[in-house]
Amino acid sequence: MNLDLTKLLAGSTNSVDFEFKLTQEDCEQLAQDFPQTEFDYPMVLSGNVSACEDGTYDVKISSNVGFSEPCARCAGPAHAELSIYIETKAIRGSKTEENEDCLFIKNRELDIIMPFFEQIVLEYPQYGILCKDDCKGLCPVCGIDLNKKSCNCRAKTVDPRLAKLSELLK
Ligand SMILES: [Zn+2]
Ligand SMILES: [Zn+2]
Repeated sequence: MNLDLTKLLAGSTNSVDFEFKLTQEDCEQLAQDFPQTEFDYPMVLSGNVSACEDGTYDVKISSNVGFSEPCARCAGPAHAELSIYIETKAIRGSKTEENEDCLFIKNRELDIIMPFFEQIVLEYPQYGILCKDDCKGLCPVCGIDLNKKSCNCRAKTVDPRLAKLSELLK
């Protein structure tokens, strides 16, 4: 999905606002990168491209990306949101070593979806998300959900080094 910049490049406007609603079909690439994750759709992507005096273009892209995946502790349903904000430059022409961080305008269009997906990959929580901040997780011994029930496993499986320490402290 590309943004048409014809008017901006022709100089008949200095700035172009955009708002895209991305459906699940638009985000197949993302779904492949995150097979465990259910993203909320539509994803609303908004921002602005504006002309600079030096012939480059400032690009701003923002979105709140909601998603669900199993809680990292108890495997129950968990939901979180990523606030994505990208500020970058777009230029015409082709990639060199000096401008490799820029976006490139091709055929008067700018692809803003790929940088957006790349930012999600960068900011996605690597160690997972929690169903709630104080999720107690599953008992490592009997597997019971400690948010719902309690068990006596912990008492029985005290680390022997800690047991010795508590002996000393008596
Ligand atoms: Zn949990
Ligand atoms: Zn247990």
